[in-house]
Amino acid sequence: MKIELDLSRRPNAAPAALPSLAGLSLPALKAEMEAMGVDPKKSGMRAKQLRRWIHHFGTQDFADMTDVAKELRAQLAERYILTRPEIADHQVSRDGTQKWLTRFGPGIEGESVFIPDVGKAGALCVSSQVGCTLNCTFCHTGTQKLVRNLTAQEIVAQVLIARDELGEWPTSTENRRLTNIVFMGMGEPLYNLDNVAEAIDTISDGDGIAIGRRRITVSTAGVAPKIPELGHRTSAALAISLHATHDDLRNEIVPINRKYDLQTLFDAIRAYPDLSNSKRVTFEYVMLKGVNDSLAEARDLVRLLKGVPAKINLIPFNPWPGAPYECSDWETIEAFAEVVNRAGYASPIRTPRGRDIFAACGQLRSESVKKSAAEKRREALAAEAGGKAG
Ligand code: SAH
Repeated sequence: MKIELDLSRRPNAAPAALPSLAGLSLPALKAEMEAMGVDPKKSGMRAKQLRRWIHHFGTQDFADMTDVAKELRAQLAERYILTRPEIADHQVSRDGTQKWLTRFGPGIEGESVFIPDVGKAGALCVSSQVGCTLNCTFCHTGTQKLVRNLTAQEIVAQVLIARDELGEWPTSTENRRLTNIVFMGMGEPLYNLDNVAEAIDTISDGDGIAIGRRRITVSTAGVAPKIPELGHRTSAALAISLHATHDDLRNEIVPINRKYDLQTLFDAIRAYPDLSNSKRVTFEYVMLKGVNDSLAEARDLVRLLKGVPAKINLIPFNPWPGAPYECSDWETIEAFAEVVNRAGYASPIRTPRGRDIFAACGQLRSESVKKSAAEKRREALAAEAGGKAG
């Protein structure tokens, strides 16, 4: 059989998408302007105009940019778009929690969760990686291999998507529903610190999205050497996924502890800049039935935190399919909380939110998998062959 190849017709080849400027940091916008041929003397000013339209007004159309010359607007529209990454799925829980599955690229999907009534008004939980390298035994994301780090732009895009849905453009400081950002989604933020720090610069920029650094919390499982650096570079609030008070157990359930043990972790926490009673470290402690929930451990927890300005968040374990744990009984959690309470830590139990849509702590996981170079090549060849044959 003879197959005719018509290389001019490639029906399966998607048209090359233009890059989006939405979510880019100010320095990145400036670099794009220069790449476009804008005079370097003017590129800073142009970048600031764009920043205001994109991140203060939330515009997705260059035509809105009335203080930018028509000719430049046309040039911009030829080279760029202002759209967000595609939303692959969006779910709303009975309790008002919302979850987005965002497609950052083919097969690269990550989740973000908006939780009303947390922080000053509502918090958005963002992902810093697709998948994770840490393998904490109680965490669903830990069962998914790392696919890749998210870029700063992709992290900021999660905030833009939530703002779009909540209708919170232009940026206003009154009656906001989205007031806080927590890096508690998929991934380990301190293994992607450059991009996380750049994203925080953009999110906190007063002429853009304007969510203050003190309302941004970064949670780590304990990448000790990066903890003080996180504070120096971002001034964000620090959260630590502690979950155990002794190295033996922590080595088992939070395996990064084998690399950085509790002593090393606490030395790093004490070196976090500007800790005070008004800027405390949040310690997250997931309540696992019969594993870490005894009263002796509650007392050890209090002892361990002595001298560190701290808040404690007891998180009832959120189940996921095949999870090797159960959530502690409610009486056990209350008794544990009582010990912590008596030591002066107020309201330590975190109510689970969004469990019905799998949006609660530790339930996030996407189907994305990392593909080998050989797999990617096979797929590209198959697409190519499909295109030719069609
Ligand atoms: N890697 C970072 C960011 C993820 S934060 C970190 O570990 O801090 C996600 C939080 O949810 C962490 O405190 C994590 O330990 C907790 N968590 C994970 N699985 C959970 C589960 N099944 N139930 C409740 N909390 C969980």
